[in-house]
Amino acid sequence: MDTFHLEKNGGGAVGARSKLKITVIQTGTGNPPVRLIASPQNIGTLHRRLGVIFCRERTGPHPINAYLIEHPDGLIVVDTGDTARKSDRDYMPRLNPGFSRGIDIRVAPEEEIGSQLNAMGIRSSDVRLVVMTHLHHDHTGGLNHFPHNRILASGENLRFAKRMRGLAGAVPRNWPRWFDPEPLEFFGPAVGPFARSAPLTRDGSIFAVEAPGHITGHVVIVARSEDLTYVLAGDLTYRQYLLMDDVVDGMTENPALSLASQRAMKQFAQNEPTVLLPAHDPEAVSRLADGLTMYPRSP
Ligand SMILES: [Zn+2]
Repeated sequence: MDTFHLEKNGGGAVGARSKLKITVIQTGTGNPPVRLIASPQNIGTLHRRLGVIFCRERTGPHPINAYLIEHPDGLIVVDTGDTARKSDRDYMPRLNPGFSRGIDIRVAPEEEIGSQLNAMGIRSSDVRLVVMTHLHHDHTGGLNHFPHNRILASGENLRFAKRMRGLAGAVPRNWPRWFDPEPLEFFGPAVGPFARSAPLTRDGSIFAVEAPGHITGHVVIVARSEDLTYVLAGDLTYRQYLLMDDVVDGMTENPALSLASQRAMKQFAQNEPTVLLPAHDPEAVSRLADGLTMYPRSP
Protein backbone atom coordinates (compact mmCIF):
# COMPACT_ATOMS: atom_id res chain seq x y z
CA MET A 1 0.00 0.00 0.00
CA ASP A 2 1.53 3.34 -1.00
CA THR A 3 2.06 6.29 1.31
CA PHE A 4 -0.72 8.34 -0.23
CA HIS A 5 -3.12 5.50 0.45
CA LEU A 6 -1.98 5.33 4.07
CA GLU A 7 -2.58 9.03 4.49
CA LYS A 8 -6.24 8.95 3.40
CA ASN A 9 -8.48 9.43 6.44
CA GLY A 10 -5.34 8.80 8.49
CA GLY A 11 -5.86 5.08 8.05
CA GLY A 12 -4.65 2.17 6.00
CA ALA A 13 -6.47 -1.14 6.47
CA VAL A 14 -9.52 -2.79 7.96
CA GLY A 15 -9.62 -5.93 10.02
CA ALA A 16 -7.46 -5.93 13.13
CA ARG A 17 -8.39 -5.51 16.76
CA SER A 18 -6.50 -3.16 19.05
CA LYS A 19 -6.10 -2.05 22.59
CA LEU A 20 -8.38 0.98 22.86
CA LYS A 21 -10.49 2.89 25.33
CA ILE A 22 -13.75 4.73 24.75
CA THR A 23 -15.05 7.56 26.94
CA VAL A 24 -18.50 9.14 26.78
CA ILE A 25 -18.46 12.94 26.73
CA GLN A 26 -21.98 14.13 27.50
CA THR A 27 -22.34 17.69 26.24
CA GLY A 28 -25.71 18.54 27.77
CA THR A 29 -29.22 17.14 27.50
CA GLY A 30 -32.25 17.32 25.26
CA ASN A 31 -35.84 16.46 26.09
CA PRO A 32 -37.49 15.85 22.73
CA PRO A 33 -41.02 14.81 21.84
CA VAL A 34 -41.51 11.06 21.88
CA ARG A 35 -42.28 11.18 18.15
CA LEU A 36 -38.78 12.48 17.44
CA ILE A 37 -37.18 9.26 18.64
CA ALA A 38 -39.88 6.86 17.38
CA SER A 39 -42.17 7.39 14.43
CA PRO A 40 -44.55 5.22 12.43
CA GLN A 41 -42.75 4.07 9.31
CA ASN A 42 -45.44 4.15 6.66
CA ILE A 43 -46.32 7.86 6.69
CA GLY A 44 -45.07 10.66 4.46
CA THR A 45 -42.30 13.07 5.43
CA LEU A 46 -44.64 15.99 6.15
CA HIS A 47 -46.91 13.82 8.29
CA ARG A 48 -43.88 12.52 10.18
CA ARG A 49 -42.47 16.01 10.83
CA LEU A 50 -45.85 17.37 11.92
CA GLY A 51 -46.13 14.39 14.21
CA VAL A 52 -42.90 15.52 15.91
CA ILE A 53 -43.90 19.19 16.10
CA PHE A 54 -47.32 18.57 17.61
CA CYS A 55 -46.37 15.71 19.89
CA ARG A 56 -46.84 16.82 23.51
CA GLU A 57 -45.36 13.83 25.23
CA ARG A 58 -41.63 14.12 26.01
CA THR A 59 -39.06 11.35 26.29
CA GLY A 60 -37.50 12.78 29.46
CA PRO A 61 -33.92 14.06 29.45
CA HIS A 62 -31.58 12.31 27.08
CA PRO A 63 -27.86 12.89 26.62
CA ILE A 64 -26.12 14.64 23.76
CA ASN A 65 -23.00 12.50 23.56
CA ALA A 66 -19.70 12.81 21.79
CA TYR A 67 -17.15 10.04 22.21
CA LEU A 68 -13.39 9.96 22.76
CA ILE A 69 -11.38 6.98 21.52
CA GLU A 70 -7.85 6.42 22.82
CA HIS A 71 -5.95 4.30 20.31
CA PRO A 72 -2.20 3.66 19.84
CA ASP A 73 -2.30 5.94 16.73
CA GLY A 74 -3.66 8.79 18.88
CA LEU A 75 -6.93 10.29 20.06
CA ILE A 76 -10.06 10.27 17.92
CA VAL A 77 -13.11 12.37 18.78
CA VAL A 78 -16.43 11.21 17.29
CA ASP A 79 -18.90 14.11 16.94
CA THR A 80 -18.50 17.32 18.91
CA GLY A 81 -21.82 17.52 20.76
CA ASP A 82 -23.71 20.68 21.48
CA THR A 83 -22.95 24.19 22.65
CA ALA A 84 -24.00 26.53 25.46
CA ARG A 85 -24.78 29.08 22.73
CA LYS A 86 -28.00 27.13 22.18
CA SER A 87 -29.59 29.31 24.85
CA ASP A 88 -28.82 32.51 22.86
CA ARG A 89 -32.09 33.65 21.36
CA ASP A 90 -30.82 34.09 17.84
CA TYR A 91 -28.50 31.10 17.66
CA MET A 92 -30.96 28.75 15.99
CA PRO A 93 -33.15 29.60 12.97
CA ARG A 94 -36.39 30.86 14.49
CA LEU A 95 -38.68 29.99 11.64
CA ASN A 96 -38.09 26.30 11.96
CA PRO A 97 -40.48 25.01 14.64
CA GLY A 98 -38.50 21.79 14.88
CA PHE A 99 -35.71 23.83 16.42
CA SER A 100 -37.50 26.42 18.49
CA ARG A 101 -40.08 24.21 20.17
CA GLY A 102 -38.62 20.86 19.50
CA ILE A 103 -35.88 19.52 21.60
CA ASP A 104 -35.42 21.64 24.74
CA ILE A 105 -31.62 21.45 24.69
CA ARG A 106 -29.66 22.53 27.76
CA VAL A 107 -25.90 22.87 27.69
CA ALA A 108 -23.80 24.50 30.43
CA PRO A 109 -20.49 26.07 29.30
CA GLU A 110 -18.53 23.50 31.28
CA GLU A 111 -20.40 20.72 29.47
CA GLU A 112 -18.99 21.71 26.08
CA ILE A 113 -16.52 19.19 24.70
CA GLY A 114 -13.51 21.54 24.88
CA SER A 115 -13.99 22.15 28.62
CA GLN A 116 -14.47 18.47 29.31
CA LEU A 117 -11.36 17.44 27.37
CA ASN A 118 -9.39 20.11 29.23
CA ALA A 119 -10.66 18.73 32.53
CA MET A 120 -9.28 15.35 31.44
CA GLY A 121 -5.90 16.98 30.72
CA ILE A 122 -6.40 16.86 26.95
CA ARG A 123 -5.87 19.87 24.69
CA SER A 124 -7.55 19.95 21.29
CA SER A 125 -4.11 19.88 19.70
CA ASP A 126 -3.65 16.41 21.28
CA VAL A 127 -6.58 15.08 19.23
CA ARG A 128 -5.43 13.31 16.06
CA LEU A 129 -8.77 13.16 14.24
CA VAL A 130 -12.29 14.49 14.67
CA VAL A 131 -14.84 12.35 12.80
CA MET A 132 -18.46 13.37 12.29
CA THR A 133 -21.29 10.81 12.05
CA HIS A 134 -23.37 13.60 10.48
CA LEU A 135 -23.71 17.37 10.63
CA HIS A 136 -26.95 17.87 12.58
CA HIS A 137 -26.78 20.90 14.87
CA ASP A 138 -26.44 18.94 18.10
CA HIS A 139 -23.37 17.13 16.75
CA THR A 140 -21.57 20.19 15.33
CA GLY A 141 -22.02 22.54 18.33
CA GLY A 142 -18.50 21.86 19.63
CA LEU A 143 -16.63 22.28 16.32
CA ASN A 144 -15.23 25.63 17.48
CA HIS A 145 -13.05 23.74 19.97
CA PHE A 146 -11.09 22.10 17.12
CA PRO A 147 -9.81 24.97 14.94
CA HIS A 148 -6.52 23.29 14.02
CA ASN A 149 -7.59 19.67 13.83
CA ARG A 150 -8.00 17.28 10.98
CA ILE A 151 -11.80 16.87 10.70
CA LEU A 152 -13.47 14.18 8.59
CA ALA A 153 -17.11 14.05 7.49
CA SER A 154 -19.12 12.34 4.79
CA GLY A 155 -18.78 14.41 1.61
CA GLU A 156 -22.35 13.48 0.70
CA ASN A 157 -23.64 14.67 4.07
CA LEU A 158 -21.66 17.90 3.80
CA ARG A 159 -23.00 18.71 0.33
CA PHE A 160 -26.56 17.90 1.40
CA ALA A 161 -26.34 20.00 4.58
CA LYS A 162 -25.03 22.99 2.60
CA ARG A 163 -27.67 22.64 -0.08
CA MET A 164 -30.52 22.50 2.46
CA ARG A 165 -29.33 25.72 4.19
CA GLY A 166 -30.61 24.87 7.65
CA LEU A 167 -33.76 23.02 6.65
CA ALA A 168 -32.36 19.55 7.23
CA GLY A 169 -31.40 19.87 10.89
CA ALA A 170 -27.88 21.01 10.02
CA VAL A 171 -27.21 24.73 10.44
CA PRO A 172 -24.25 25.73 8.24
CA ARG A 173 -24.47 29.39 9.35
CA ASN A 174 -23.41 28.27 12.86
CA TRP A 175 -20.35 26.34 11.70
CA PRO A 176 -17.01 28.01 12.34
CA ARG A 177 -15.98 29.99 9.27
CA TRP A 178 -12.90 27.81 8.83
CA PHE A 179 -14.92 24.58 8.86
CA ASP A 180 -13.91 22.63 5.75
CA PRO A 181 -13.85 18.92 6.63
CA GLU A 182 -12.01 16.35 4.57
CA PRO A 183 -14.43 13.91 2.92
CA LEU A 184 -14.27 10.39 4.31
CA GLU A 185 -12.74 8.12 1.68
CA PHE A 186 -14.40 4.72 1.55
CA PHE A 187 -11.49 2.81 0.04
CA GLY A 188 -11.64 -0.02 2.58
CA PRO A 189 -13.29 -3.40 2.01
CA ALA A 190 -16.84 -4.54 2.72
CA VAL A 191 -17.43 -5.28 6.40
CA GLY A 192 -20.26 -7.74 6.92
CA PRO A 193 -23.39 -6.19 5.42
CA PHE A 194 -21.69 -2.82 4.83
CA ALA A 195 -20.47 -2.56 1.24
CA ARG A 196 -17.33 -0.51 1.93
CA SER A 197 -15.42 1.11 4.75
CA ALA A 198 -13.28 4.15 5.53
CA PRO A 199 -10.22 3.15 7.61
CA LEU A 200 -9.27 5.65 10.33
CA THR A 201 -6.25 3.94 11.87
CA ARG A 202 -3.24 2.26 10.35
CA ASP A 203 -4.08 -1.11 11.91
CA GLY A 204 -7.66 -1.01 10.61
CA SER A 205 -9.26 -1.42 14.04
CA ILE A 206 -11.29 1.80 13.67
CA PHE A 207 -13.25 2.65 10.54
CA ALA A 208 -16.44 4.30 9.31
CA VAL A 209 -19.25 2.58 7.42
CA GLU A 210 -22.24 4.13 5.71
CA ALA A 211 -25.59 3.96 7.51
CA PRO A 212 -27.85 6.50 5.77
CA GLY A 213 -31.53 7.27 6.34
CA HIS A 214 -31.63 9.57 9.38
CA ILE A 215 -29.90 12.02 7.05
CA THR A 216 -28.20 11.66 3.67
CA GLY A 217 -24.62 10.47 4.14
CA HIS A 218 -24.96 9.45 7.79
CA VAL A 219 -22.07 7.19 8.90
CA VAL A 220 -21.26 5.16 12.00
CA ILE A 221 -17.81 4.56 13.46
CA VAL A 222 -16.74 1.03 14.33
CA ALA A 223 -13.94 0.51 16.88
CA ARG A 224 -12.74 -3.05 17.45
CA SER A 225 -11.05 -3.52 20.81
CA GLU A 226 -9.32 -6.71 21.85
CA ASP A 227 -12.54 -8.35 23.02
CA LEU A 228 -15.50 -6.20 21.95
CA THR A 229 -16.65 -4.18 18.97
CA TYR A 230 -18.01 -0.73 19.72
CA VAL A 231 -20.25 1.12 17.31
CA LEU A 232 -20.43 4.87 17.78
CA ALA A 233 -23.76 5.01 16.08
CA GLY A 234 -24.58 8.72 15.84
CA ASP A 235 -28.32 8.91 15.19
CA LEU A 236 -28.68 5.54 13.44
CA THR A 237 -31.22 5.13 16.24
CA TYR A 238 -32.03 7.10 19.39
CA ARG A 239 -32.39 3.97 21.54
CA GLN A 240 -31.06 0.48 21.07
CA TYR A 241 -34.46 -1.12 21.83
CA LEU A 242 -36.02 0.91 19.01
CA LEU A 243 -33.43 -0.38 16.56
CA MET A 244 -34.01 -3.95 17.77
CA ASP A 245 -37.76 -3.44 17.18
CA ASP A 246 -37.26 -1.96 13.66
CA VAL A 247 -38.66 1.44 14.72
CA VAL A 248 -37.39 4.46 12.76
CA ASP A 249 -37.06 8.00 14.14
CA GLY A 250 -39.15 11.10 13.40
CA MET A 251 -36.31 13.09 11.82
CA THR A 252 -35.44 10.46 9.23
CA GLU A 253 -35.38 11.62 5.65
CA ASN A 254 -35.87 8.14 4.31
CA PRO A 255 -37.51 5.58 6.60
CA ALA A 256 -36.85 2.68 4.22
CA LEU A 257 -33.13 3.55 4.17
CA SER A 258 -33.10 4.04 7.95
CA LEU A 259 -34.63 0.63 8.43
CA ALA A 260 -32.16 -0.96 6.00
CA SER A 261 -29.25 0.65 7.91
CA GLN A 262 -30.66 -0.49 11.26
CA ARG A 263 -31.10 -4.04 9.96
CA ALA A 264 -27.56 -4.02 8.55
CA MET A 265 -26.32 -3.10 12.02
CA LYS A 266 -28.24 -5.99 13.55
CA GLN A 267 -26.77 -8.37 11.00
CA PHE A 268 -23.29 -7.01 11.76
CA ALA A 269 -23.83 -7.44 15.51
CA GLN A 270 -24.82 -11.08 15.09
CA ASN A 271 -21.33 -11.83 13.79
CA GLU A 272 -19.23 -10.11 16.46
CA PRO A 273 -19.89 -8.98 20.06
CA THR A 274 -21.10 -5.44 19.46
CA VAL A 275 -21.75 -2.67 22.00
CA LEU A 276 -24.04 -0.04 20.45
CA LEU A 277 -23.40 3.55 21.51
CA PRO A 278 -25.91 5.95 19.90
CA ALA A 279 -25.42 9.67 20.53
CA HIS A 280 -28.62 10.12 22.57
CA ASP A 281 -29.23 6.79 24.26
CA PRO A 282 -29.45 7.17 28.06
CA GLU A 283 -28.27 3.55 28.35
CA ALA A 284 -25.02 4.14 26.44
CA VAL A 285 -22.95 4.92 29.54
CA SER A 286 -23.90 1.74 31.41
CA ARG A 287 -23.73 -0.34 28.24
CA LEU A 288 -20.16 0.85 27.71
CA ALA A 289 -19.18 0.34 31.36
CA ASP A 290 -20.63 -3.18 31.50
CA GLY A 291 -19.70 -4.27 27.97
CA LEU A 292 -23.35 -5.10 27.20
CA THR A 293 -23.61 -6.39 23.65
CA MET A 294 -26.62 -6.20 21.33
CA TYR A 295 -26.91 -9.98 21.30
CA PRO A 296 -25.86 -12.43 24.00
CA ARG A 297 -22.23 -13.46 23.61
CA SER A 298 -21.58 -17.05 22.67
CA PRO A 299 -19.76 -18.85 25.51
ZN1 LIG B 1 -29.19 13.71 13.90
